[in-house]
Amino acid sequence: MSEDREKEIRILEKQALECADVEELISDYIDDELIVVLKARVASHLNHCEKCRECEEDTRSIIILAKTLQRPVPQDVRRRLREKLNQTLGLNLQP
Ligand SMILES: [Zn+2]
Repeated sequence: MSEDREKEIRILEKQALECADVEELISDYIDDELIVVLKARVASHLNHCEKCRECEEDTRSIIILAKTLQRPVPQDVRRRLREKLNQTLGLNLQP
């Protein structure tokens, strides 16, 4: 059993998801890699928790940008994207 599955099962056994659980699962949730029941519970938490919704949006843009950075793009575009990410998200991505 993978570590991810163990994490999912540990969180599934809880009565209710906490924000920390959602934060842990959010990237798998966005990539659609969660087991269905857990996905539903994350979705319902997101429905009533603004903080986690913000976290979801941030994570989603990071994932999209990370995928963009993997593609062959001109050097100056990569540099601008990286600077933007560092600036807006407080990251420290290096060339
Ligand atoms: Zn929350």
